[in-house]
Amino acid sequence: MRTPAVLLALLLAAGVPMTLHAQQAAPANTPQPAAPKMDVKKAGLPPVSGKAKAAKPIPQPAKELFGAAKTPAPLAARSIGFYAKGCLAGGTALPVDGPAWQAMRLSRNRNWGHPELVALVEKLALDAKQHDGWPGLLVGDLSQPRGGPMLTGHASHQVGLDADIWLTPMPSRRLTEKEREDLSATSMLAADRVSVDPNIWTASHAKLIRRAASYEAVERIFVHPAIKKALCEATAKDPDRKWLSKVRPMWGHHYHFHVRIDCPKGSTNCEAQPAPPGEDGCGKELTDWLALVSKPPKPEPPGPPKPPRPQITLDQLPADCRAVLASGARVPAPVPATSAKATQAK
Ligand SMILES: [Zn+2]
Repeated sequence: MRTPAVLLALLLAAGVPMTLHAQQAAPANTPQPAAPKMDVKKAGLPPVSGKAKAAKPIPQPAKELFGAAKTPAPLAARSIGFYAKGCLAGGTALPVDGPAWQAMRLSRNRNWGHPELVALVEKLALDAKQHDGWPGLLVGDLSQPRGGPMLTGHASHQVGLDADIWLTPMPSRRLTEKEREDLSATSMLAADRVSVDPNIWTASHAKLIRRAASYEAVERIFVHPAIKKALCEATAKDPDRKWLSKVRPMWGHHYHFHVRIDCPKGSTNCEAQPAPPGEDGCGKELTDWLALVSKPPKPEPPGPPKPPRPQITLDQLPADCRAVLASGARVPAPVPATSAKATQAK
């Protein structure tokens, strides 16, 4: 393990600005602690002198600004920008407990979305309970209260139109807050990583994804290639396979699937994604993905650490995102402990 001082020296030698050192790329969806601001004095490191001090100040990454906003922007609901470069005005919270769902990882404060997304997640949970044999859904991340880039995980989920749904069924009791932090989701993959485990994957999983894809507002669904393969095989003889075109393979996504909805009406600055190809996606694209995921991951090449990826700054987001950040209070007013739960639940 390298000491912080040695690591810092390596990064400075490689031309890496100090303020960015804590934000090196991490695998998507890996929870990490919030990137701390480097305090040279507290870290016991020598102060940086001369040249580095005179260097142009680095703009604060937008993820720090949006990550610090604890409340929604009190404006009309609007998704602004692109799924991976934007923000959210007038976000609403998915209640942490519903008749057919429970929200997970509450400490992240990412159960916020455009009202149309929140309504769709609620409908999916109710429909799945009523028709697809689900006891209820465990819901992962939607967006931050004002959307925007996040301190950890996801590149998308920025405009309040993306939601992660766990493939683990909801338990029949209410989970405690701690359980919602600690409970692990179940991977659907078999040991070969190119097929689902028949002891875990069920017809109900396929029904749930199909149901989500059947909603008109749903634009894309991302699943692991092995799950896409399972869906292609299970529906090979079905006359209606059009919905399969919305379900596209993606890295990860074997513990949960990702639902993305279209730009809502009225979100004039929302940037749509090109429609998926019309075919079912069960051909060459899937074969190529399966070949990719079947390869063992490459070991890290030796040498100094890679420079961090450039961070999205506020200037790079749509101009309206400044107003989203600036409107109303960004931190919740203190509430007495006894009523905190009721406030959070809606
Ligand atoms: Zn996602």
